[in-house]
Amino acid sequence: MSAVCWNCGGGAPGAEASGRFCTACKALQPPATDYFEFFELPRQLVLDPKDLEKRFYALSRQLHPDLFSRKSSREQEYSLESAAVLNDAYRVLKDPIARALYVLKLEGFDTGEQTTKDVPPELLEEVFELNMALEELRMGDTDVLPQLEAARLRFENMRDETDAELQTKFGAWDASHERNILTEIRGLLNRRKYVTNLIDKASHVPDRV
Ligand SMILES: [Zn+2]
Repeated sequence: MSAVCWNCGGGAPGAEASGRFCTACKALQPPATDYFEFFELPRQLVLDPKDLEKRFYALSRQLHPDLFSRKSSREQEYSLESAAVLNDAYRVLKDPIARALYVLKLEGFDTGEQTTKDVPPELLEEVFELNMALEELRMGDTDVLPQLEAARLRFENMRDETDAELQTKFGAWDASHERNILTEIRGLLNRRKYVTNLIDKASHVPDRV
């Protein structure tokens, strides 16, 4: 957000509590592109979903494009932009995993698609056995079904454990903002994604058996 108002050249758009309207002429300012800034929150990994929802509805009312239909075309444009940022920001911030990926990106981490080299080594054997069982099932051997069910439960357990670990790391990063914690979080997110894929695989057994 710029330090001077686009409309009157004065005011202190960033200084007002909302930071969205010029303190002098009250004109709507362009939306902050940082989702946390947009929601007037510090950059943090643990958020209270109720508080976030309250902020979302308050901002929806404050920035609704209908309120700007009689304003200048520039303000109309900013209200539309703001509504779009609001929806994107809410979608990302309310989901703890999307939120963590977003923070990693803001902090300069590469969050692109994980590659096979990110496969947690301790899972290689599990993956091998899962593929074998799925192959046997395709050949018509339904005896492997209990094995697949057991594998699915194990993977779900792993995901839950990973989520618990993530929660702990989220709190630790919020308290210290230490970069090495983000590196650990990135590793956990990769693991979580991988395990989630395995749950999918173990759950989607062919219908014909
Ligand atoms: Zn102004």
